[in-house]
Amino acid sequence: MQTYSNDLASRQAVVDTLKALGDAQLNKGTSGNVSAATADGMLITPTGVAPAQLLAQHIVHMSLQGEVDADQLTPSSEWQMHADVYLAKPGVSAVVHCHSPYATILACARKAIPAMHYMVAAAGSYGIPLADYATFGSKELSAANLRALSTSMACLLANHGQLAIGFDLKGALKLAVLVEEQAHCYWGTLAIGGPVLLEKAQMDAVMAAFADYGQQQKRKDLASGNKFGK
Ligand code: 13P
Ligand code: ZN
Repeated sequence: MQTYSNDLASRQAVVDTLKALGDAQLNKGTSGNVSAATADGMLITPTGVAPAQLLAQHIVHMSLQGEVDADQLTPSSEWQMHADVYLAKPGVSAVVHCHSPYATILACARKAIPAMHYMVAAAGSYGIPLADYATFGSKELSAANLRALSTSMACLLANHGQLAIGFDLKGALKLAVLVEEQAHCYWGTLAIGGPVLLEKAQMDAVMAAFADYGQQQKRKDLASGNKFGK
């Protein structure tokens, strides 16, 4: 878990994450928002500022109860949804929300993503859930989001977009990219008759395999001598 503080480096990391969403075609205009947890609250993107105009000093530091520090811009309209994640999920340090195209298509059709590709397990569950619809920026949307996140690190927000959480900003961003890839894949399968879903035992095997997937460092440490030429 990464800890952020109300300093320039952490503020810049939040800016970079919002810009990265745009660069990855996951967001357009002023939609979407990003936050990082600090010891006494969170850093969050200001409302209605496009990534191209966003600077580190625009990032808002505020408490998880909604008190904004002096001399800050107005925080994202979704600040409550971000704050409630940190209050409910100790260890989570970053939240990314965006209106990525395919996740939003599925969210508007009110279709959660089932276990149609093994990588849905990267969100920590057997599919990517759909949060109930509520008005953007509302306490009700925050509550719906938390219900959906009770079994997952990411969800679709009905008639709205998607949200991903992580132990740092990079992790939350990576998961938002994955949600969009999975949404695109599911959308494609729906166009050709629908996916063949993986069975629970197959997904259990994926979860077990994920426990030690891709851990090069571990393998290198175990290797004797200079096997990897390093
Ligand atoms: P903000 O500009 O207030 O962050 O709102 C964008 C958004 O995506 C609302 O859901
Ligand atoms: Zn939104």
